[in-house]
Amino acid sequence: MGIMDRRTFLLLSALSPIMAKDFIDHRGDIYLTKDDMHTAYILKKRLKALKRYVGYANFNIISYDRALFYGRNYSYVGAFTKKEQDFIEKLFFSDPKEFKFYGKKTVPNLTYSVNKKEIVKIPHSGHFLYKGKPLEDYGRILKDVHSDLILTSGIRNVIKQLDLYLNKLKKYNGDLAKASRVIAPPAFSYHTIHDFDIGKKGWGYKNFTAAFAKTQEFRAIRKLTYVDIRYKTNNKDGVRYEPWHIKVI
Ligand SMILES: [Zn+2]
Repeated sequence: MGIMDRRTFLLLSALSPIMAKDFIDHRGDIYLTKDDMHTAYILKKRLKALKRYVGYANFNIISYDRALFYGRNYSYVGAFTKKEQDFIEKLFFSDPKEFKFYGKKTVPNLTYSVNKKEIVKIPHSGHFLYKGKPLEDYGRILKDVHSDLILTSGIRNVIKQLDLYLNKLKKYNGDLAKASRVIAPPAFSYHTIHDFDIGKKGWGYKNFTAAFAKTQEFRAIRKLTYVDIRYKTNNKDGVRYEPWHIKVI
């Protein structure tokens, strides 16, 4: 596919979302096909190499086009195959309502790029925040709640979100509904545009469990008027309860 053809394809895909018929419908549960599972496996390995090459922090914000560039030019990463690119596009442009995810589309295009002038790297976190409200909110939370709170996830561009989504697809054997309940599909994450996750220093993975809701810090966060929690219990988006995910309002 030439560059013009690809752009045209992306545009057409954006106008008519790919439906679940492109995946396997097994008694109402939507799964990746065996072929897609294999592509996802290869793609995961490539993304791992890309992460190693550009570094953890840069991997959070790298755009799709830059990822393709690194693939083409650095043999350590290796070029993304047409199959991989088609698969990424299928995930990006699919209508997730088909697999019970009802959140809003947050990322206008697959090639969305984060403007480095508009972001700040948060020391010792490996993560970035947008200047303006997200950065202000983060600073205020540390001041108002506890200075020992940490940023556990900030800006995530499409590639990073895709990587996390593939991990969950693997965990749930290609079940798109299960994966989408615990992580927003690549075009639907508020991390890409402003939200962030917060946690307790030294808590590691526990920061991403319901246990966080039992902490004093969480109770204090709930009293703040300038932020909210994005995914509450039984939210309309169809996402699990995420007490750690700060909604920038
Ligand atoms: Zn989050």
